[in-house]
Amino acid sequence: MNHFFPLRFGVKSLSFLLCIATTLTSLHAGEQVVVYSSRNEHLIKPIFEAFQQETGIEVVTHTDKEGPLLQRLKAEGRRGQADILMTVDAGNLWQAKQMKVIKPIQSEVLDAKIPAHLRDPDHTWYGFSIRARTIVYNTNKVKPEQLKGYADLADPKWKDQLLLRTSKKVYNQSLVAMLIAEHGEAQAQKIVEGWVDNLAQPVYSSDTKLLEALAEGAGSVGIVNTYYLGRLLKKHPELPLAVYWPDQDGSGVHVNISGAALTAHPKHEANALRLMEWLAGPKAQAMLAQGNMEYPVTDEAKPADEVVAWGAFKQNTLNLSKAGELQAEAIRLMDRAGYR
Ligand code: FE
Repeated sequence: MNHFFPLRFGVKSLSFLLCIATTLTSLHAGEQVVVYSSRNEHLIKPIFEAFQQETGIEVVTHTDKEGPLLQRLKAEGRRGQADILMTVDAGNLWQAKQMKVIKPIQSEVLDAKIPAHLRDPDHTWYGFSIRARTIVYNTNKVKPEQLKGYADLADPKWKDQLLLRTSKKVYNQSLVAMLIAEHGEAQAQKIVEGWVDNLAQPVYSSDTKLLEALAEGAGSVGIVNTYYLGRLLKKHPELPLAVYWPDQDGSGVHVNISGAALTAHPKHEANALRLMEWLAGPKAQAMLAQGNMEYPVTDEAKPADEVVAWGAFKQNTLNLSKAGELQAEAIRLMDRAGYR
């Protein structure tokens, strides 16, 4: 008698499950959203899997560097399958807008959740995580009281002490574009010339190489994105490196974003919007920020513990579209200043 019960229960739950499965399949048959992403597969995959689990919408990703992705979107035009472009740096997103491969969207959720300076005023792109490009110093050589801000690193007191990454990297083009937006071109050029005069070494090809040299004492101070420091300290916590938050009495830390946009010819527009709004929610925000040791754009999520330990900071709230608008000017300025 007893063994009938489990059996009957089993049959019932099986048909129940089948019923659910059928409903899900009919609701979401072929439901997809296609993302072109320059962000690492290992970072975005768990996030998209969580979205798929919650919504039943499958996220198909194609990852590449931003240059080829933009070219591909342009070449594919209306025939393209991509719904969302995901990339880093407002400079790149601004470029995508100029190329008309992304289009504006209307989302009260995104406009409410994402701070105004981290999104395009024309609603084409939105920031989903914050990257702080700040000052890092060698703790054996510098006391934080000696530091002040980005412009101060142009002062002759930092002669032969400054380390910079190449001006070819969009991160530095955006940083200088924002300096132009803030101080005007003449003053920004003075700052960059001062930096070049203070260089301790030729420019580095990556933030990580710069940080390794800084830890070895090849210089005293450098400008980097904090997540590179986070990664390096995870492997080598003993390194004599610390974060300094510049210009806290003034305009604040230069921030940039990783962001996303709706492509110009999406095939699954509603799903794409749903994914973008979900990315601004607490779960995705925590995953996005913590996965690469960046900062969330909303206060509903927290960064990784190691990142929280660096302390809170005031960020520069100039709209990041300036990083794109002034990019060409920034490149010319860096060239004139001899910043290679
Ligand atoms: Fe990076």
